[in-house]
Amino acid sequence: MASILVRGGTLVTLDRRRRIIKDGAVAIEDNKIVAVGKREEVTRQYPSAGEIVEASGKLVLPGLVDSHVHHTQMLARGIADDLDLITWIHDRILPYESVMTDEDTYTSAMLCCLEMIKTGTTTTVDPGGYRMEHVARALDESGMRGIVAWASMDTDTPDRPVPRNLLTTTEGALKANLELIKAVHKTADGRIRARAGIRIEPNASSTLIKEIDKLAKKHGVGVEMHAAVSREQVDVIKKRTGLSMIRYLKSLGVLGPHWLLIHMGWIDDEEVEILRATDTRIAHVPGASMKGAYGSARYGKFPELLRAGVIVGLGCDSSAANNSLDMFRAMWQVASVHKEVRYDPHLVSPEEAIEMATIKAAKAVLWDEEIGSIEVGKKADVIIVDVNRSNWIPLHDFSIVPNIVYAGDGHV
Ligand SMILES: [Zn+2]
Repeated sequence: MASILVRGGTLVTLDRRRRIIKDGAVAIEDNKIVAVGKREEVTRQYPSAGEIVEASGKLVLPGLVDSHVHHTQMLARGIADDLDLITWIHDRILPYESVMTDEDTYTSAMLCCLEMIKTGTTTTVDPGGYRMEHVARALDESGMRGIVAWASMDTDTPDRPVPRNLLTTTEGALKANLELIKAVHKTADGRIRARAGIRIEPNASSTLIKEIDKLAKKHGVGVEMHAAVSREQVDVIKKRTGLSMIRYLKSLGVLGPHWLLIHMGWIDDEEVEILRATDTRIAHVPGASMKGAYGSARYGKFPELLRAGVIVGLGCDSSAANNSLDMFRAMWQVASVHKEVRYDPHLVSPEEAIEMATIKAAKAVLWDEEIGSIEVGKKADVIIVDVNRSNWIPLHDFSIVPNIVYAGDGHV
């Protein structure tokens, strides 16, 4: 007997063979998937269940994985629209974050979880803010799965100083990272993981970057960092070190599969090769880039990264940057924007877009042994999409994934 039997829907599994199973079923025991297949096969194996979820006429997908979400910025929606990125960060978002209380942080994170749950996201990857134990509390209580980090800044930018209470010494940043990792990593029955965090390159010393990498390796966690986000930020590093961003990180001896670099619009072909050779992971956030004019579609190398086999996950960013947390919208953005700017309709297929919102996003944060696809042995992070709505009709067998990406939305 299974705990839950989801039966009758069209399963878009994202498994190794990328099977789409019509009239399928998923059997779940406790929190794990124990059978996936045609309804008659699975119900023969599991004729009864504690709970039967009827999914006939609906799509059954793996829970979406958002590779980049700032939970603490949920209450900042609308306070920083239509600004250049430097003004957005230094004049609006960092001052906002600097006055947040524990309760503000928790409330912001809870609202963020609510929007994600309502739009089909079950795993969220936060690059870090402050008071992050209160984000972890919200993840725990909401039932979401997610990663939190502490966003280290140990270096000021003289022309755009960061709020004093967010800037620390290198030692202070390492201590805060360690405390967060010890407090929340692998809590909530394994639903919450912690990573080490570096906010963004101009505000990080080379010592901090190297020490964060060491700390992450020592504690078996990953590293998250905004990197190569805008031309101005890459120029700060070029001026400081003589190197472009990825060459700089390589020169420090960091990078690797445990690194998740976010945005990454300002890299060149040689840096694509460094990322491939080091198996470094990327979070691509097309919505924030399109709205904030970061340039990652026009100047970036995302089609080249995908072609090179670099693992790229998809993210929404925050409600102050994108300003939506609907991953269906992000799938449409990533499958459309590169076609437009490169004048090439073959770039970033719907199949690639849905992978970037599920299995590739899970791989990007080294969590694919548990999530990202509907497969036996994985956690039962499964969503059901009601397609009995005008924007899903007609839904041909050959257009299921294109419909999800080009016409779908999470508000069903
Ligand atoms: Zn971000």
